[in-house]
Amino acid sequence: MHTYHVPLDLVRERSPERPVALVRPNAVAQAARWFQDNLKADVFYAVKANPSRWVIETLVASGVTAFDVASLAEIELVRSVLPEARLAFMHPVKSRAAITRAYFDHGVRTFSLDCQEELAKILDATGQATDLNLVVRMAVSTDGAAYTLSGKFGVSADQAPALLLAVRQAVKDGLMGVSFHVGSQCMRPSAYEAAMAQVGRAISRAGVFVDIVDVGGGFPSVYPGMVPPDMSEYAAAIHRGFAEMPVSETTELWCEPGRALVAESSSVLCRVDLRKGDALYLNDGSYGALFDATHSRWPFPCKLVRDAEASPELKPFRFYGPTCDSIDQMPGPYWLPADVREGDFIEIGMLGAYGVAMTTGFNGYGEHEIAVVEDAPMASLYGLAPRSIPTVRTSAEETARKVVRFSRPKGKAGQRRRRR
Ligand SMILES: *Cc1c(COP(=O)(O)O)cnc(C)c1O
Repeated sequence: MHTYHVPLDLVRERSPERPVALVRPNAVAQAARWFQDNLKADVFYAVKANPSRWVIETLVASGVTAFDVASLAEIELVRSVLPEARLAFMHPVKSRAAITRAYFDHGVRTFSLDCQEELAKILDATGQATDLNLVVRMAVSTDGAAYTLSGKFGVSADQAPALLLAVRQAVKDGLMGVSFHVGSQCMRPSAYEAAMAQVGRAISRAGVFVDIVDVGGGFPSVYPGMVPPDMSEYAAAIHRGFAEMPVSETTELWCEPGRALVAESSSVLCRVDLRKGDALYLNDGSYGALFDATHSRWPFPCKLVRDAEASPELKPFRFYGPTCDSIDQMPGPYWLPADVREGDFIEIGMLGAYGVAMTTGFNGYGEHEIAVVEDAPMASLYGLAPRSIPTVRTSAEETARKVVRFSRPKGKAGQRRRRR
């Protein structure tokens, strides 16, 4: 990967034809350090947030050697970087073939499940293995999250005790755990504490001993108008929640951050291929790295990357992506200098999580180049940049955005998203 000091250096050197993922490995390293230094938990990186090889390599170099994987492809990717990585197959629904290959070919011992049928499937597909670590995914309240994840997975409170008992009996020489996911971009640290209390009640009712408490992902990043509390409050809430749980001294605490480890680390450099009034047609869009900008109107920050001087006046723009599909639009508004024009480059920030990871090849677009840049991210929860991104918005827009932000994404795309 070529390294540039700042994105403008890349634009000066050559005008890239394809969109470029601008990556900042240092930001991943900094986030990894925060989790290891501040959370008394084993960190499993949720690979789906950004499965780029450089991310896995940077995490490994920073001491994160455990990974939450959800498919054979993710398992193979991590193994190819670090053969001895600790892998947890945390997708609650897996095919028999995937379980068998994960167990026998890739040495995966940790699997999650949320029902009796999946438990039976895992035991069967591993030849009744006695060295399994089995983690029960519990449904918890997800009020504080921008994306709720309760709709698809997790055993309900009334069915949890029976499942916990069954899993406790199925675990022989391995560990038995519980996990949950408070929802992605969780803006309320207390959500973790509340979830842990809920899970604790189920453990008490079942009367089982639990070896692992896995608080899942959901740790936030920062976006315009979406500035979370200090990360230390998340650590404090989790430590308090853990102390109150009916578990023992030897019970392990795990977490599975995705977004919080990678969101700051990448932006995407796009080119304006046409301007029509306040509409900018870009060479990246919702079938590329901007899925969230379309389907949940996620407010990504952006800036013009131009050598010449730009108008000091900012104006609101809409973006359109490169495909012929009319859904390929990002309503924004994105505030840019009033004189933005064809041939200009725009850096869209905070796209390290669920950005390039969402790219499809639809209509022949979607491929990104990768370049390393050495400047700071547009915002940072870990001290690399300001903690917030100024918003240039009318109060009416702000109110409208809040409604969008805390309601479920609608339609097919939303369903695809709630998997997290
Ligand atoms: C997606 C996912 C994560 C990561 O979620 P973030 O909100 O990105 O932190 C962690 N665990 C599981 C099981 C997931 O599906």
